[in-house]
Parts: sequence; C-alpha cells; structure tokens
Amino acid sequence: MSDDTMIRIRRTFMGCEFELVLCGEDKDYLTNAADEAFEEVRRIEDDLSVFVPTSEISDVNFRADREPVIVQPRVFRLLQKAAELSADTDGAFDITAGALVRLWSSAEGVPPHDVLDAVVATTDMQYVRLNERDNSVEFAKPGVRIDLGAIGKGYAAAEVVQVLRDRCIESALVAAGTSTLYAVGCPPDADAWTVGVRNPVMNNERLTTVRIRDQAFSTSGSHERFVAIDGVRYSHIIDPRTGWPVTGLLLACALVDDPIESDALATAFFINGLEWTRAYCLARGDVGAIIVTQDQPGDKPVVHRIGRTIHQERE
Ligand code: AMP
Ligand code: MG
Repeated sequence: MSDDTMIRIRRTFMGCEFELVLCGEDKDYLTNAADEAFEEVRRIEDDLSVFVPTSEISDVNFRADREPVIVQPRVFRLLQKAAELSADTDGAFDITAGALVRLWSSAEGVPPHDVLDAVVATTDMQYVRLNERDNSVEFAKPGVRIDLGAIGKGYAAAEVVQVLRDRCIESALVAAGTSTLYAVGCPPDADAWTVGVRNPVMNNERLTTVRIRDQAFSTSGSHERFVAIDGVRYSHIIDPRTGWPVTGLLLACALVDDPIESDALATAFFINGLEWTRAYCLARGDVGAIIVTQDQPGDKPVVHRIGRTIHQERE
C-alpha cells in the first residue's frame, strides 16, 4: 500500500467526542476531508438533536400532535428506518421513548405509577404517522415525543463515511463517541481495524477486542450515562414497553454493515437481553453481538460473543 500519512482529528458534537483517523497520501487532502465530514456532523446535530430548539426534530415534537410537519427527505428516511427497526426489535428500540427519557431524566424521584402509565401510553412507533407523499410527520396523540439519541450517532457515522467514500478515502476509522465506530477498509499495516471494548466496571481496562473492516460496531451500556434518584442509578436506556430503565446487562454491542442499524441494535440488544440477542443473530446471519453480563456485583464480567464471527477476517 502506498499510503503513508495518517491523521487523527477530534471534535465534540452531540455531547460526545467524534474522532476520525484517516489514511492516505496527502495530509492537506485528508484534513479537508475531515473538515467536510465534521461539517456534515454539525448539520446533522442541528437537524436532529432534541437539545437544539430549532432542530427539525424539536419542531416535530412541538407541533406534530396538532398538524403534519414536513421534514427534509433525509430526516424522513431516517424516521422510516427507525420505524422499521422498532418492528424488527419487537419494540425495544423505539424513538417514541423520548417522553420516557424526558420523564426519567427530570424526575426528582421514581415517577408515580399513574404518571409512568400515562407516558407509556404515548410510547409506540404506531403513533407516528409518516406520510411519504410530502415527507410529513404527524403524531396520532398528544404527548408523543421522539428522541433520536439511540440512532443519531450511527446516522452521523454513516454520513461521515459517505463523505469519505465520495472523496475516495479507502482507509479510515470513524468514531462517533464510544458508541458507534465504522471501519473504512483497513489500516495500511493490517487487514482490519482492531477496536477495543472497554470493561464497563474497570474503566481503563480493555475487556476484549473486535476486528472490523467495512463494518460498523456499536456499544450500548449504562455505566457512563445514568440518572441517580435517591442514590439508585437508573439507566438512560428505557424499555418502552414497561417505561422502566433497563437493568440486566453490563454492555451490549452490535456488529453489522450499516452504522444506523448497529447503533439501534446495540440499544435493542441491551434492552432485550442475551437470549433474545442470540435468537436474533441466529435468524439474521449478518449480525454479530457481544453481550457482557455479570452474575453478581463485584464478579468478573462475562463476555458472550454471538452470531457473525466477530474475529473473522474478510478476504
Ligand atoms: P444508545 O446509547 O445508543 O443506546 O442510546 C441511548 C439514548 O437513546 C438515550 O440516552 C435516550 O436518549 C434514547 N433512548 C433511551 N431508550 C430508548 C429506546 N428504548 N429506544 C430508542 N431510544 C432510546
Ligand atoms: Mg444505540
């Protein structure tokens, strides 16, 4: 391989650090590509974030229960994809968990049962009507709120990869925080990118590694992000079917070609647990998973590798 330059650039978006490692021959060319890619991520954050009051998603949340809200075609397609992924994960991944996310993150205690029940009653992708004719979104009832937090970084990674491929960059590693990684090709000195999975209970320790090439790898867990209520830690990932933050696994990781899908699946694997994930990967064939469990607090984490052989190299 004639590539001789590698640049590594970090920027903060979506509340986390994005990192690009780009390989090629011309440093200026790579730096320009990175700037263009980051500019794209900034646009995506401006369009999708519920923390940006002027974003299209904030606009949808604000008024889609009263009138159809037209969104950009690419935002519309992402919402369609989110709907498919909800159906595909038995409702575990569901962007209408937004109202529950807000309830738990602002809760001063565990929400009262009747409040929780009322919010669960607004949580279901079937309450989001997507009209392909004019790319409009409408909520079927008041109180519905969408949140793309579990898929936004995967989407950003996908768009960054598109920018890099359009610029004929054949060797790159894209990290959207620690949550979604995408490997373009391989590094100059290896036949795949090796990425680490951090031990969720011993933060600086590497629990295991994964080799990826033209694939996405996403991780979901609640060790870094949670809300504490009366000294109890509640996960930022919520089971939309019960309304409760998810406990059970330490980490769930998904490996699949499409970063949007890997991001959503990691969240769904974390919610649906080990046996569901096993059955899902078996049925799909093109998806791999790493599930990390712990029998008792203080025990050594157990790593379960599932489905599509994660260490296997491609030709
Ligand atoms: P991730 O880290 O990709 O698993 O995404 C977690 C984020 O997605 C949370 O911080 C919430 O904003 C949102 N979220 C929580 N629970 C769900 C869920 N069941 N389906 C979709 N998004 C969720
Ligand atoms: Mg996710």
